[in-house]
Formats: sequence, C-alpha cells, structure tokens
Amino acid sequence: MSVSTPYTRFQTTLTQVMDMLSLSPEERTHFEKPQHIHKADILIRRDDGTEQSFPSFRVQFNNARGPYKGGIRFHHDADEEEVKALAALMSIKTAVVNIPFGGAKGGVQCDPKDLSSKEVQAISRAYVRAMLQNIGPDIDCPAPDVNTNPAIMAWMRDEYEKETRTYSPAVITGKPVSYGGSLGRDTATARGGFFILQEMMDRDAIDPSELKVVIQGFGNAGAHMANFLHGAGYTIVAISDSQGGIYSPEGIDPVRVEKYKRKTGAVAGEYCDYSGGSVCDLDRMKMDGVQHVSNAELLELPCDILIPAALDNVITAENAAKIQARYILELANGPTTPEADEILKEKKVKIIPDVLANAGGVTVSYFEWTQGRSGEQWTAQQVDSELRRIILEGYKSVRREARRKGMTYRQAAFSVGIKRMSEAMRVRGWI
Ligand code: NAD
Repeated sequence: MSVSTPYTRFQTTLTQVMDMLSLSPEERTHFEKPQHIHKADILIRRDDGTEQSFPSFRVQFNNARGPYKGGIRFHHDADEEEVKALAALMSIKTAVVNIPFGGAKGGVQCDPKDLSSKEVQAISRAYVRAMLQNIGPDIDCPAPDVNTNPAIMAWMRDEYEKETRTYSPAVITGKPVSYGGSLGRDTATARGGFFILQEMMDRDAIDPSELKVVIQGFGNAGAHMANFLHGAGYTIVAISDSQGGIYSPEGIDPVRVEKYKRKTGAVAGEYCDYSGGSVCDLDRMKMDGVQHVSNAELLELPCDILIPAALDNVITAENAAKIQARYILELANGPTTPEADEILKEKKVKIIPDVLANAGGVTVSYFEWTQGRSGEQWTAQQVDSELRRIILEGYKSVRREARRKGMTYRQAAFSVGIKRMSEAMRVRGWI
C-alpha cells in the first residue's frame, strides 16, 4: 500500500479532476510537480551562545497567472512534502477566486514554543536572506501561516528592503497595519468562509438560529469564525484547541471562551487543569451544562455544520462515517482525506473545500499587495465589500461547475482552478 502524504492526497483529487477534464499529457506535466523547490539550512545563534541550524523550504508551484503567493509556516512537522502540497493548493486557490497570483508556500522546521522572540526574529531574517533571489513583489510574495504573524512579516519586509536597498511594501503581506498591512487581513480568512456559509444558508432558506456548529481550532481562523457565527445567530455547540474542547448542546459564547483562553491558555481552561495531564472540575461543568471533549470526539458530535480550523488530515476513513454534520466548511488546509471524501459524498454531506472556504486570507493579501504597490490605504468597508464580491464569485463559479458536471464542490473547485491555470499557460504559449 502506498504511503499517504499531504502531497499524495492532493494528487488523488488532482488526478481525478484531470481525468474528468481529459487533460492532455502535456498539460498534466504542469500540474504534477512544482516549478521550483528551494531549500536552505538556516543557521542562527541561540540565546545561550550555541549555533543551531533549521531546515527551510520555499516551494513555487506555478506562476502562470501571476507572482507566486503563499504563507510561511514555522512548525516542527514542516517538511518538503507538506510544503509542496500547500503550494499546490495555493495555486488552485488563487485561481478559484481569480486573483492575479500563482501558488507557493514556505516552511521552517522549528518549534517556536522553544524559541525566544529574539531567536524567532533571527530565523525570520535568515530565511529572507536565504530566499532573497527567489522572492520579490513581482516574483513571489510570502505571507503568514501557522505560527507566523504580522510581527514576523514586518521583520521579513525590513530584511528584504535592507538587503535589496529598495522600498518594497508589496514583497510580503499580513504585515502590521502600521507598517503597510491592510485593514481586515486579520479576520479575512474567517470572514470569507462566513460570507460563503451565509450565502448557502440564504439559498437553502435555512434560518441560522436553527443551526448548531462545531469548530475545531481556536486560533486566527477558528476564533474569528466563532465570533462571526455567534453574532449572526448560529449556535456554537463545541469549540476546541490543541488541548481539547468543550461541548454544550445549549450553546457556547465565544467571547467567554476567549476570556478563558487568555486567562488559562486553553479553551477548556476554566474547567480543566492540563498542567499534569487533564483534570476537570466535573461538578462545575455539570452546573454550567458543559462537557469536556477530546479533539477526536468533537468531530463526531451532533451538529449541522462542522468547521475544521486547525490541522490537516483530521477527517479520515476512520471517522467519516460517524460525522453527523450536514455541511463541512474547511477553514484548515487539507483536513479531509480523499477516502473520507468518498464516504461523506455517499452520506450527502456538503463540503466547502479549503481552496474556496479559506481563500478570504489570500484575497485580502491581494488587496494588501495592491495597496503596497499603489500607496493607497483602503477602508475596512472597502476591504469587506470587495472580499464579499470576490469570494462569492468564486463560490458561484464552483457551484455552477459542480451542477453542470455532477462534481463534488472539491472536484468543481479543482476543475475551475485547473481550467483557469491552463488558459493562462495556453495564452503564454507554455502548452
Ligand atoms: P493558529 O496557529 O492561529 O491556530 C491554530 C489553532 O489550532 C489553535 O487554536 C491551536 O490550539 C489549534 N490546534 C493545534 N493543534 C490542534 C489539534 N491537534 N487539535 C485541535 N486543535 C489544534 O492557525 P490559523 O491561522 O488559525 O490556521 C488554522 C488552519 O487554517 C491551518 O490549517 C491554516 O493553514 C489554515 N488557514 C489559515 C489562514 C489564515 O489566514 N490564518 C488562511 C488560510 C488557511
């Protein structure tokens, strides 16, 4: 049996859709592997005076439609296979929402929890120096991803400008608003997913107050999504972070959860002490109508909408049959395996795939890049209304493709993306 990796999972859907579209062998070669894989060992001096090197990657998958675009992840599991898959997904994603970018991704294999802020800054600057020849406002524009944030983007822009002796705010997105960032970038990923969900519920004439939602992950994507949904009248019945989650059939107020998380470091921290394992105050939980759930249990809870907003590869052949949701909105990248996709299709669960559901982030990154190049500053209202227009156009093109071709939304999103990329390659004379 072949080993399943993030890249082989991407290839499974890719091959399915390329077959459905009867792509020529020549066209297929452009989708099957990245255009460039850059690797470098980053050497920094630790605070204790020792030197340490960290493997780092920048995978540039395809730039037929514009400069490469994609985040940089700092994570101990970030390896070439993972970064390759994420870069490939970025190429499809930018094409689905029809913004003028290609796809790329970066990663540094490190654990930021073990590093001081000074060490994180040294890694960020060294990464830019290592990739200097391969990035730039017209070449490849990185952005934040898991464990990277606006402060890191500011260090990276600063290093790029110093090394190239240029003024280049558009080299990187997700910067602090005070240093060339865009309003609305912090909430963009969740906001985009929320716009799609609202559109689907309107079309299906479903009242949000009748809908129960489960969210896995309470970081940038998950926490903002919880707030938007709560504000619009949906009932959030379960939320989790890496330590586990809480479930309350009567509903959870995400503002209170945010307070628990800030105070104790964990979503369930008000009730459970994780310092030596997990010990929960069951009496208090009972009084508040709350139960503790593991991340595995959370996915199988009774609900209407399930939102994976943390890790990849969590909805698999092992648990797909037990999922009770009618809709899955993938804010995380790659949360569902191809085997799970098949099972969920049989169960008629509607999946809004990552390449569409979480494309709000890269869409507002595009607005930031545009502002960086023109020197303009958009208002929050401008960002919101343009995001809504672009993400809903992406959603409508996917829905239309799904209906016409009898595809799942994931297949339809890949189909829309592949066709737009092929068209760009054709007019450029690559195929
Ligand atoms: P984040 O680091 O801000 O938050 C991640 C959350 O997941 C945290 O609450 C963390 O505790 C939780 N988590 C970690 N391990 C977990 C586990 N084993 N089980 C359950 N929860 C766990 O990251 P983020 O920016 O919110 O990104 C989350 C996902 O969304 C990733 O897959 C990322 O690629 C994707 N995404 C994010 C953006 C964005 O703009 N932030 C854009 C597109 C896609």
